[in-house]
Amino acid sequence: MKEIVPESPAIVRNQQVAIQQLFQQYVVPSYGRFELALSHGLGSWLWDVNGKRYLDLGGGIAVTSLGHAHPEIADTLAAQARKLIHISNLYYHEPQGRLAQQIVKQLAPGKVFFCNSGAEANEGLYKLARKFGHDEGRFEIITAFNSFHGRTLAGISATGQDKVKKGFEPMVAGFRHVPFNDLQAVRDAISPATVAVLIEGVQGEGGVTPATPEYLLGLRALCDEKKLLLLMDGVQCGHFRTGKFQSFQRILQGVRGAEQFLPDAVSMAKSLGNGFPIGAFWIQERHADLLSAGTHGTTYGGNLLGCAVALKVMEIIEREGLADNARQLGGFFRDGIARLAAQHPKVVTGPRGLGLMIGIELAAKEQIPAFAPSDKPASTQFVNRLHEAGLLTVPAGTQIVRLLPALNLTRAEAEQGLQIIERTVAGLSKV
Ligand SMILES: *Cc1c(COP(=O)(O)O)cnc(C)c1O
Repeated sequence: MKEIVPESPAIVRNQQVAIQQLFQQYVVPSYGRFELALSHGLGSWLWDVNGKRYLDLGGGIAVTSLGHAHPEIADTLAAQARKLIHISNLYYHEPQGRLAQQIVKQLAPGKVFFCNSGAEANEGLYKLARKFGHDEGRFEIITAFNSFHGRTLAGISATGQDKVKKGFEPMVAGFRHVPFNDLQAVRDAISPATVAVLIEGVQGEGGVTPATPEYLLGLRALCDEKKLLLLMDGVQCGHFRTGKFQSFQRILQGVRGAEQFLPDAVSMAKSLGNGFPIGAFWIQERHADLLSAGTHGTTYGGNLLGCAVALKVMEIIEREGLADNARQLGGFFRDGIARLAAQHPKVVTGPRGLGLMIGIELAAKEQIPAFAPSDKPASTQFVNRLHEAGLLTVPAGTQIVRLLPALNLTRAEAEQGLQIIERTVAGLSKV
């Protein structure tokens, strides 16, 4: 007799509710997620499981620098996967060496360590700093308020925002926070134990705030004077997003006395692999051998798949002139948002940022009648409205909404995105 096989239960029928139920039951609830379940993408467009299309100006939080389902990226991943995915760091392989060479070429003589995420790249910087100061008993790293450096224990200790630390005390010892863009505050915070200063060139999670040229140059001089390492977290603002490989190269472009400026080390991740998880940090020549054999490592770091795809990302960005595109479209968005702020000052108070790292600064929730009754911050409510209108963006804090799109966004797409933002703002200012 034939066994009666029951039909498999409809666990995932590609429906939003069913997917959300899976998360509710099985996924650790550590994220506040939007009510969207996405299924596939193409370039700067994404589709949800119900077939609705969105223009993606969030880029998976500054990650998908070449958009979704890029054919060359897909081919590179597939071709490398058929050859070798992983061998560990017990052995040599060509893609890691070549990727390190490309990163050095973008910065200055030095060496690169590879890992798997931004938080991990920053962990490497903390260890570099500790190693640097170890024999003199120096270990303290000064970071900025409103910074974000990742979610590991040292990452949240380094991060200058209480909300990421809450409930996880005690923090890792040896971090001090000072106001951003305030050189005197750094000088005042230096103690005999201080070994390094760590900043983002453009604060991302903290609200899209670029460092000023004077701050960068002042920090370099101060660090030289006090024998401190100047460390830069380029995880979000790096990889050509501001129009140059690293944001400091953009911020200091054409600034007198900045020709020789170099941080001692720079962390990277996000856009490096276009969504394939890879992180890295570059160390300038004079400290490049501090992390000697046996002092630092990771199993996956710099694996063939990640390095092959990151090499392809760099090749395409260079070939297609996407740093210039980021600069031009960044200007386009800034102008548009400035216009909006002039037209609707009760909703938008101004643009922020550099290149394709843009912030839309919103008025306080209480001043936007449509937002006031909800307990959600203005940034979240605005992002929700944009979702309804078919646009994906990323909130930062309570009053900033970020645009972190693919660097190969087209002018036509940028225009469409800005139109949706304009319509949404106009709708809000009418109420
Ligand atoms: C995202 C981010 C990190 C953390 O990167 P993960 O890959 O999430 O660990 C660190 N620093 C900055 C500036 C970031 O934006």
